[in-house]
Order: sequence, then C-alpha cells, then structure tokens
Amino acid sequence: MMSGSIETLRQWIEESRDIVFFGGAGVSTESGIPDFRSVDGLYNQKYDEPPETIISHSYFLRWPEKFYRFYRDKMLYPQAEPNDCHLALARLEQEGKLKAVVTQNIDGLHQKAGSRNVIELHGSTLRNFCMNCGKSYPVSAILEAEGIPRCSCGGIIKPDVVLYEESLHDGDMDRAISAIRKADLFIVGGTSLTVYPAAGLVEYYRGKRLVLINKSPTPYDRYADLSISESIGKVFRKCVLE
Ligand code: ZN
Repeated sequence: MMSGSIETLRQWIEESRDIVFFGGAGVSTESGIPDFRSVDGLYNQKYDEPPETIISHSYFLRWPEKFYRFYRDKMLYPQAEPNDCHLALARLEQEGKLKAVVTQNIDGLHQKAGSRNVIELHGSTLRNFCMNCGKSYPVSAILEAEGIPRCSCGGIIKPDVVLYEESLHDGDMDRAISAIRKADLFIVGGTSLTVYPAAGLVEYYRGKRLVLINKSPTPYDRYADLSISESIGKVFRKCVLE
C-alpha cells in the first residue's frame, strides 16, 4: 500500500506543471527542529508560561529578556540543515514544475536548500530589525547578544517573526492563495491542519489532486485524493530524489 501511494504521487508529480507545496512544523522536525508548540515536561519545569504566551506580542514588549531566553533556547537552530523534503522541492522548482512553497516554518531551510519562491507566512528568524531605526540584523546578532539584543542606536532588535497576537504580513496570504488557486497539484505536508491558517488554505484549492503527507492522520484526510502517513522526507526522497 505504501509503495502504491508513493508510485501514485510520483506519477502525479510527473504529470503536473504547477505544483504548490504547503508545509508545517513536521517539515522542520525532520531537520532536528522540534515544534515549539509541542508541550513536554521540560516547559513546565523551566518556563513559567506556555510557549503561546511567551511568543506573543504583548509578552515581547513587556518581558523582552524572558522572551529572548525562551526564543534562543527553543526557536533558533542555526546548525540545522535541509532534509530530503526541502531538497526535493528545490529541485522541482528548478525543473519548472513547482511554482511556490508556502510555509509556516521560520527557519529559512527552504531557501538554504535552494528554493526561491518561498512564502513564509510566519516570517523568518534569519531576518531581524531594530524597532527604533529599522536597521537589519542577521540571526548572529541575536545569538551573540547577552540578554536583550540591541541596535547600535540603542533600540531593541526584534525578529521578523509573526508572534501570537500579530497579524500576518500584508500580501503574504494573498500570494499564497493566488498560487494555490492556480495549482494543478497541491501537496500539504507536515501539518495536522489544525493550526490557523493551514486549514483555511486548503479551501482555496480548485484542482483535482490534493495530497496530504503527515505522520499521523489529519481531519482533512477524507477530503484528500491521496493521503500518506509517513515521514515527509522519506516520501519526497522516493518520489523525487531517487
Ligand atoms: Zn536602531
């Protein structure tokens, strides 16, 4: 059954000219980046608040030092490398078959793999800017600072990441919707489709082939034309890289 699904997806990719991929945290976990939302005992011992509270706009403004303690500890993985999912998507784009990657991840691994048209709905940890003068800073400025990272002007440096309570950047959602509407193959991977805006995006797809790849079943599996419960890196390796 597994090999049958892989073969079907391989054939659909072969026949498609306008593939769009939408990915969630599961794409990055296979590069060793854990989902910060996943609650384990460590959070309760080490942090007084849940991640959704700490990674929020109001918390950042009120407790920047505590925000950055969590952020450096749980959200920055500068040593992470792209996995076979990232590499396969980059190759499909180079071949002209894939038009866009839409991602909820903030690690920049799609670009590191070579993808160019990446819509980062939640921003990127690799971009940072001074809240006072707007000057840009690389992630090293966050990693190397002690406590609150500050600009040469004295302002606080903020990651270009969409925090809880903040809205998505203007235009990103429109670009994602427009790409998904035109797609002839829509592959959704590494997301349980329970977190906004993932579930909503699926509704915009008008094509005939919706593929879901997730290690565990999702509420949308019954709407999918093909659903594969398997490691996303493994699926893409077999469909594209081998
Ligand atoms: Zn500044």
